[in-house]
Amino acid sequence: MFNYRFIRRVFLILLMLAAVTIQSYGFEIYYPKEKKSETTYDYGLFIGKARNTELISINNINIHTASNGAFAHSVKLKDGENRIVIRSNYSTKVYNVYKKKPAIKAAAEIKELEKRTLLVKSDNTPLRRAPEDIGYNIVSYLFKDTRIVVNGEKGIYYRVFLSKDKTAWILKSDVDENSCPDTEPASFVNMDSERFKNANVQTITFTKNLPYTVEDGEKEILFRVYNPELSDNSVYTLNILKPKKYFYNVTLNDGFYTFKVSEVPKTFEGCTIVVDAGHGGEQDGAAGCLGDKEKDINLKIALELQQLLKQRGANVVMTRECDGTITLKDRIRLAKAREANIYLSIHMNSIGNVAFSGIKHRGTGVYYFNRNSRELAEILEKTISKSAGTRRDGVKSRSFAVIRPANYVGVLIETAFMINPSDTLLYRSPEFAKNVAEGIVTGLEEFICE
Ligand SMILES: [Zn+2]
Repeated sequence: MFNYRFIRRVFLILLMLAAVTIQSYGFEIYYPKEKKSETTYDYGLFIGKARNTELISINNINIHTASNGAFAHSVKLKDGENRIVIRSNYSTKVYNVYKKKPAIKAAAEIKELEKRTLLVKSDNTPLRRAPEDIGYNIVSYLFKDTRIVVNGEKGIYYRVFLSKDKTAWILKSDVDENSCPDTEPASFVNMDSERFKNANVQTITFTKNLPYTVEDGEKEILFRVYNPELSDNSVYTLNILKPKKYFYNVTLNDGFYTFKVSEVPKTFEGCTIVVDAGHGGEQDGAAGCLGDKEKDINLKIALELQQLLKQRGANVVMTRECDGTITLKDRIRLAKAREANIYLSIHMNSIGNVAFSGIKHRGTGVYYFNRNSRELAEILEKTISKSAGTRRDGVKSRSFAVIRPANYVGVLIETAFMINPSDTLLYRSPEFAKNVAEGIVTGLEEFICE
């Protein structure tokens, strides 16, 4: 009798131990990081790694896992509390996602104001086509102490009067409300132009700093300076014919503008290329199905690329060569200071707010912002996919901060999807970084040396 009870107890203990062991052998979830979270998104993405022979279901839907165990699935969220149960034959995990309603901003009305002259507080102040914070609507980056005339307001923006038929918008916080510019309007001093081997420079001088815009047209680039204090239609236009591959920049010093359109060098020697490994340090970037961090893969590719470009004789500038934190502003500052010709930002993709089947979103996408960078984006999307074996995810125009300046030809490469189970098989392979780097160099060769 006693023996029987003892054996039963030992058996029960063993059973419990086995259950605990099996639990700890179960799948991992790498995103979301927390079991409880809040979102305004319509979908909640779950990515993770299953152990051998483990079958995963999310809210009773069976999920496909890649041969290395990677899986990804997104769940449609309803307003309020959502309970998501992830189950396998070994273990169960429960997540709670609270879907908040997105905050609806009260639409402000445009209010007319008495004309006022104000000064811009700092360099690099965006002047926008519309009173909204969207990268696309930036028409200019104004310099410190630029004199602007405002004649209207909407919410947190002032309407800037440029000419009889042109207005733009500026954040109220970007102008000095207490500035009291003298009442004397600015006047034109002179204009000049100079040709260099790889650049065309035009200069124009006024007695004060005035607002300007740059427009990248079909055949030429148009640079306009506005002096609305003098008359309603006082606009000065400079235009420079575009070389085939170009970048441009504007400087301002005490009313003296330099507008320079440069040609991209035709050989690797003499070409300054910024290799920008995305994220780093405190910023992990996207999480992968198997727990990889985007920042690490970006860096691996960047280091391979550095090697290959150096071998070709290019002047390579790295934004980081180790796992350090660097801001977007500092990356741009570095590129400008080193007078970069080409800027390559290396990233890995992820996607949040869509129905994610794990198949649909894969492969290499290349992004550009300015017209001068589109051709390189198109070439790279082809050559990288070919060399790395990724699916082609297309070329898109997006307003990413590091590729917004027109001071260089700039593209942002989303090499593969961190969250795609099939892409994990590719980016986990030891040759991946080298293959991507080789694809980039092949594309650059086509772009530069053609
Ligand atoms: Zn990234």
